[in-house]
Amino acid sequence: MVIGVFGGSFNPVHAGHISLAREVVARKLADKVVMVLSPLNPLKEDPASLIDDYLRMEMLRIACLPYPRLEASDIELSMPRPSYTIDTLRRLAASNPGDSFRLVIGADNWECFDRWKDYREILRDFHPIVYPREGCAMPGEDSQATPMWADLLPVSSTMIRQRLITGETVNNLIPPAVLDYIRANGLYRRDDPQVI
Ligand code: ATP
Repeated sequence: MVIGVFGGSFNPVHAGHISLAREVVARKLADKVVMVLSPLNPLKEDPASLIDDYLRMEMLRIACLPYPRLEASDIELSMPRPSYTIDTLRRLAASNPGDSFRLVIGADNWECFDRWKDYREILRDFHPIVYPREGCAMPGEDSQATPMWADLLPVSSTMIRQRLITGETVNNLIPPAVLDYIRANGLYRRDDPQVI
């Protein structure tokens, strides 16, 4: 089986993430997509948006549940930090020897890909699938990466967090079951007890 690996902080996961992962499968670039949760960096993140790993993981699981070909993974949470993509890919490949893995990244990351740890090995062994990001160059014909020309939904986790704080609607921007979870646990509010 070919498995796409799509990483993010998913704080929270939104409709754009899910639709992109489904698109990878729909275009037969992978049989399945594993959505890998990245640990948040307390030194880098805005403290107001720091949400516990467990809660982000639960939302990711809930979002993937309706789709048999999408899977949430917490593999990076138990890895040494900072975690590098090549280490995650190697670990996934080692524990699933019958499968091949492909990295799914945006063109923003593609533009600086040659600064990633062991990027040549990623290109050779984990043939990246690259989706467009505004103003960023896509891989050329002769590249070891595959461009996936998909229209992304105009949504970001930052937008979702802001809207939840100001009380604007997020309907259609995140999966309804994730919104239920956010409401039930009182997440992303100014007085959120989970904010560290
Ligand atoms: P934030 O607003 O907090 O920076 P984000 O919406 O960009 O978050 P991340 O969890 O950082 O979400 O993103 C994970 C991956 O999803 C990133 O590599 C990013 O390129 C991609 N991504 C972000 N927004 C979209 C979208 N609307 N559609 C598809 N992919 C997206």
